[in-house]
Amino acid sequence: MIYDVVIIGGGVIGAAIARRLSRFESSVLLLEKESDVAMGASRANSGIVHAGFDPLPGSSKARLNVRGNQLMEELCLDLNVPFKRTGSLVVGYSPEDLKTLEVLLARGKTNGVQGLRILNQAELMKMEPNLSPDARYALHAPQAGIVCPYTLTIALAENAVQNGAELRCETMALGIESEKGRVSGVKTSQGLIRCRWVVNAAGIWSDEVANWAGSTSFTILPYRGEYCILDKKQGDLVRQVLFPIPGARTKGILVTPTVSGNILLGPNRTLAQNREDYATSSEGINEVLTGARNLVPGIRNQDIIASFVGIRAVSDNGEFIIGPTELKGFINVAGIQSPGLTAAPAIAELVTDILQEEGLKLNPKPNYIPQRAGVFRFARASREERRFQIDKDKTFGEIICRCETVTAGEIAGAIHGTIGARTLDSVKRRTRAGMGRCQGGFCSHRVTKIIAAELNLLIDQVTKNGPGSELVRSRG
Ligand SMILES: Cc1cc2nc3c(=O)[nH]c(=O)nc-3n(C[C@H](O)[C@H](O)[C@H](O)COP(=O)(O)OP(=O)(O)OC[C@H]3O[C@@H](n4cnc5c(N)ncnc54)[C@H](O)[C@@H]3O)c2cc1C
Repeated sequence: MIYDVVIIGGGVIGAAIARRLSRFESSVLLLEKESDVAMGASRANSGIVHAGFDPLPGSSKARLNVRGNQLMEELCLDLNVPFKRTGSLVVGYSPEDLKTLEVLLARGKTNGVQGLRILNQAELMKMEPNLSPDARYALHAPQAGIVCPYTLTIALAENAVQNGAELRCETMALGIESEKGRVSGVKTSQGLIRCRWVVNAAGIWSDEVANWAGSTSFTILPYRGEYCILDKKQGDLVRQVLFPIPGARTKGILVTPTVSGNILLGPNRTLAQNREDYATSSEGINEVLTGARNLVPGIRNQDIIASFVGIRAVSDNGEFIIGPTELKGFINVAGIQSPGLTAAPAIAELVTDILQEEGLKLNPKPNYIPQRAGVFRFARASREERRFQIDKDKTFGEIICRCETVTAGEIAGAIHGTIGARTLDSVKRRTRAGMGRCQGGFCSHRVTKIIAAELNLLIDQVTKNGPGSELVRSRG
């Protein structure tokens, strides 16, 4: 088989492009080296749908941010993904900060962001009573929102697959094949895959993938960002996304609600030792806590339930690198750092246009279905819905994760879903089992047993997140 398009990288960008292409008759294959989609930056980020006042006017980041924000609400509705238009505040403390807020306001207006306004202290405190009493002004962006980045990525990939795209996980791209100056295939850990176009959406590895195609004009620098998550009992500490005055290179350490009802703090920014440098550090956590407490002084250490690291794919010129290359049929979608999550639906539109300009025929599929069926969530269901579900299937009456109220039925559903979860972490990302106060202390072994039983595996074959992360060691 010769695919029309092979996309390297199952993050939010690769998945959004796959879904966009799945509305046309072309054959599409999404390749992911890990055991699931959303295992890179799309798993570990702030989950903010930025309004678009931050990127410089005229830049592709500005245009794609604002367009992505406009598309996000309907996209999430179609895919049954929780999205909240919470709004955001950039908080200032001094007359100097006020000047910066005015610059951001003007920039946002030029970028086409609606509803921006600078608030005074009284308005601020009414909106966010837990904000630092030293806060004097804030830029309010009602268009900003929040989304769960990995839920969105999984939903995009699932809808692409439902519409005929293929997904192969644990398949690592290793090189590009070409004939007469044109892409002819991708060498992978599972053999050669022939195709006419390749989209490089490999995140922190996208410079290496580009090099295989002779595109050597950029380098990716991996910058770590550490986070802390607070227990849901602190979930109403803030109502919207709170940013400090941005630094030269980052939007600073923020405090935000999540769509799941937690509070997220972070990220800091340090150059990573290597591209998979995901270990958290006490210095990083302290930096995050100090930054977050400048905004919300009442944050307490005892409410932290987890910490994690995300790695930014920063191109050496700081820009998104999206476009065709000298090798015909090879398209880069690289250096997609923030606001890449927000921009993902707009980037998918742009890349589809580029592929068309490069010769891909786009005939609409008559049976394309943009909606993804909802997933039953016991924790969110009414009493009647729960009763109904349990009457149909008793496993929906067996609570496995007590903190997040996740049932055995939901876990089995995730395992047998469109992109079936095969690991403990992929069940967690689909159901939230293990994401509560005890962080899986109570339910991990029970989820592991369900995975083994449903997939007919031995218990020592079940992994946390793919080969090499087996949870149980056999004595033999
Ligand atoms: C700390 C942090 C905070 C952020 N906060 C926000 C935010 O609040 N809002 C926002 O809009 N954006 C935010 N972003 C940016 C956003 O997360 C990224 O722009 C987006 O996730 C990038 O998606 P991606 O698909 O390009 O990369 P990734 O999600 O990293 O996906 C790339 C995929 O390619 C796979 N891959 C790599 N090499 C190969 C290979 N050889 N073969 C097969 N597969 C391969 C990887 O395993 C990975 O799954 C943040 C990013 C970080 C790191």
